[in-house]
Amino acid sequence: MSKKAKIAIVGGGVAGASTALYLSNLGLEVTLFERESSLVNGPPFCHLHAGGNLYPDISDEQCIKLLKQSIDFLRFYPHVVDYRPTVIALPHYCSSNVENLFPRLKKLQKEYELLIEKDLNNRVLGESQDYYRLYTKEQILAIQNAEITHELDRWMIPVAKNIDLSKVQFPLILVQEYGLNLFRLGASVGLALDKIDKATIRFNTTVTNIVKDSQNSWNISYQKDEETKQESFDYLINATGFRTGKIDDFLDVPCKKMVEFKAAYVTHWEEGKKTLFPEIIFHGERGTPEGMGQFTPYPNGYFQLHGMTNEITLYKDGLVASTALSCQPQLKANFIEKIEKSWSSDEVEQRTNSAIKHLSKFIPSFSQATVGSKPLFGAQQIPGDDPSLRVAEVSFPTKKYARCEIVKVSSVIDMIEAIVGELIKLGYLDKHYNFEPMVDEKESDITKVAELICGERDYPKGLAHRSVLGLGLLSKKF
Ligand SMILES: Cc1cc2nc3c(=O)[nH]c(=O)nc-3n(C[C@H](O)[C@H](O)[C@H](O)COP(=O)(O)OP(=O)(O)OC[C@H]3O[C@@H](n4cnc5c(N)ncnc54)[C@H](O)[C@@H]3O)c2cc1C
Repeated sequence: MSKKAKIAIVGGGVAGASTALYLSNLGLEVTLFERESSLVNGPPFCHLHAGGNLYPDISDEQCIKLLKQSIDFLRFYPHVVDYRPTVIALPHYCSSNVENLFPRLKKLQKEYELLIEKDLNNRVLGESQDYYRLYTKEQILAIQNAEITHELDRWMIPVAKNIDLSKVQFPLILVQEYGLNLFRLGASVGLALDKIDKATIRFNTTVTNIVKDSQNSWNISYQKDEETKQESFDYLINATGFRTGKIDDFLDVPCKKMVEFKAAYVTHWEEGKKTLFPEIIFHGERGTPEGMGQFTPYPNGYFQLHGMTNEITLYKDGLVASTALSCQPQLKANFIEKIEKSWSSDEVEQRTNSAIKHLSKFIPSFSQATVGSKPLFGAQQIPGDDPSLRVAEVSFPTKKYARCEIVKVSSVIDMIEAIVGELIKLGYLDKHYNFEPMVDEKESDITKVAELICGERDYPKGLAHRSVLGLGLLSKKF
């Protein structure tokens, strides 16, 4: 018999909300504190990094971990995935040659094969031999004329027809990294948590202080509507995203971390409405005018853009670190203003148009796109002092305290498993459980609530949809 425990989770982003869902499903009494009025309201995410192919500079180990974690994430949250692949192109101006990417792709393909051998349910990115495919210029020219030899070639038709082939190296690479929909994640976890008695969600509630009380419990002070209350808990989970340092400061635990403000831009392209695009990545050196361009399709003619230059996604002074005096890295006031209040319409216009220009260098007809809405943006936490870190989960700097610091959303399953391990050690749970999907809401209900969330946050409803459901792929019995 496990001991009874009251668990507090501070922060209802993907980390906190997923943990609340998982632990309350196991029968633990969970209270989730969220300062906003809905779940998954932090920095955005649109890409399932199933192999880290957007990051040629990170280690093979990180890429392999991202692949495994993405498969776990996809199995846990199949309904938030847009099942369309990603095409990777290296512009001629890149100092490296596209062939340098092949050894890693082969390694990832092998790893995927091994994961499938271990558990057939891991086969969620299609056949392992199709994990990536290469397309020579001759093949792309044939595809322009609709000469298709493999079903995945269909994804290359819009690429062959729309990108300026003189600007990129060949072969082009098609890889099974899919899209993610943050609005659907917020909607579905909210719907699922509503049905679980063991889960209490306190929205519009900010945790303002935490101390250890005489019973060795965590006494949490929280504020809602000007009123401050207190409650004690046996275990504390800090999932406050870029604000994890504030809670660390309350507890006076050791820390080292960074926070980076970034933004992606929402555009509308009438012409693009008619075509089912894959995601397209144009590699380039981060922080230079030739920084990576990311073209992410949503249905209904919406396209989300990243450009890893200081004029688009990145910001001068956007990366800050903790100090000896405080665990909380201090972002400048203009970033906090954007996060907590709003953007100026001039800046939205200017940065979105820079993003359109950046991508139009490679997709000329995309220059007709216009601003679709305000950007998707936020500050992202990075534990430690390496800003290129892409895989991180959770640490336990003092007893009965878990500090979640994911960099990519796919790390949440490993993060929760580590927390479950701690709860078993404390006697609050008595065994490990399998990670099976815990959301069984209807597709149409998820879409309805996701549309409402888009409306509340001033984004077009079209962003609540996904273009390819992939249900055929998932319903196959392997
Ligand atoms: C521009 C951009 C693009 C990105 N794209 C991708 C991508 O494509 N794929 C990917 O995997 N990752 C991506 N990321 C990273 C991803 O957004 C983050 O890893 C993820 O959202 C972090 O989730 P979280 O739950 O840890 O934090 P958050 O989502 O920040 O959640 C923290 C929550 O805690 C709440 N909170 C904070 N303090 C308190 C308090 N005192 N009391 C109560 N509540 C509190 C906040 O309101 C918030 O809801 C991107 C990040 C950015 C900035």
